[in-house]
Amino acid sequence: MAKSLDKLGRWTVKEFFARFPDDEACLTHIMEVRYGLHGTCRKCENETTFHRLSSRRAFSCAHCGDHVYPTAGTIFQDTRTPLQVWFYAIYLFVTTRHGVSGKELERTLGVTYKTAYRMGMQIRKLMAKADGFEMLQGHIELDETYVGGRARGGKTGRGAPNKTIVFGLKERGGRMIAHTVPNFKTHTLRNSVLQKVAPGSTVSTDELANYNLLSRDGFKHGVVKHGQEEWVRGEHHTNSVESFWRLFKQSVKSTHIRVSSKYMDVYLREFTFRSNHRAMTNAMFDLVIAAV
Ligand SMILES: [Zn+2]
Repeated sequence: MAKSLDKLGRWTVKEFFARFPDDEACLTHIMEVRYGLHGTCRKCENETTFHRLSSRRAFSCAHCGDHVYPTAGTIFQDTRTPLQVWFYAIYLFVTTRHGVSGKELERTLGVTYKTAYRMGMQIRKLMAKADGFEMLQGHIELDETYVGGRARGGKTGRGAPNKTIVFGLKERGGRMIAHTVPNFKTHTLRNSVLQKVAPGSTVSTDELANYNLLSRDGFKHGVVKHGQEEWVRGEHHTNSVESFWRLFKQSVKSTHIRVSSKYMDVYLREFTFRSNHRAMTNAMFDLVIAAV
C-alpha cells in the first residue's frame, strides 16, 4: 500500500491510476478487501485460492468451483457506472480537505449531475458507516454551533433563522463526533454526552450551554468563560472542536454553498470520517471499500 504514496506521503492521481488502471483491477481489489483472494471457501471449507472467471464479475474456488461475486449486495451491484469511475470518486472524497460537490463530480467524472449527486451521497453514507463508533474517552471538548442557512437581516450566531444546530465532541488529540441537535436544552446535550463519552472523562465546555449536570454525572467538568473573553483556563479550552467548526463551515460555503438541515448529519459524518483518519489516506480508501 505504501508503494502507492509519493515521497511526501501523498496519494497522487498518477499513483491512483497506476494502482487501478481499469475495472478489472477495481474488481480484484473489492474481492481482496471483502473476501480475500486466498482463504477458506464458504462452500467446501478448504483453504483455497480464488481465480477470476473471465465470463462474469465473479471469482471461483480452485477446489470446488463455487462462484463468489464480490460486488453482490453492494452499491456496485446494479450500477451502470464503471467501477473505476466509482473508485476515482471515492479517491476524490478521501483526498480532499474541503469536500467534493456534485458539480465537481459531474465535471471530473463525465457523468450527469443526477448520477454525480447520487454517487456523492452514497459515498458520504459509506464514510459514515466506515467511521464506526467507540465511546470517546480521556479529555473531551464539547461545543455547539450553528451551521448553514443565510441569516436574513444580518442576524448571526445564536437565534439566527434558517440555521441548523450542531453539537460536537472532540477527544483531545483523537476522534471527533458531530451531529445535529434540535435545541440547546440540558437534557438534549446531556443525553448526547452520556451516549458518547466514557464515564469519568474530563470535559471542557464554554459557559453558554446548559452543561451544569455533567459534574453530577461523574465527569470532571471545566468551563471557559468566552463571554468574559477567557479562552483557556488551565487545561480547559474548546479550541480543537472550534477548529473543526471553522474547516466545516468554510468548506460548506466554498464547496456546497449551503447544506440543508435534512442532510447536515451526512455531511458532518463525511468530515469527521476524514478528520478521524487524516493520517492514512490509503486506509481510509479501503475502509470505504470495505463498507460497500
Ligand atoms: Zn470451494
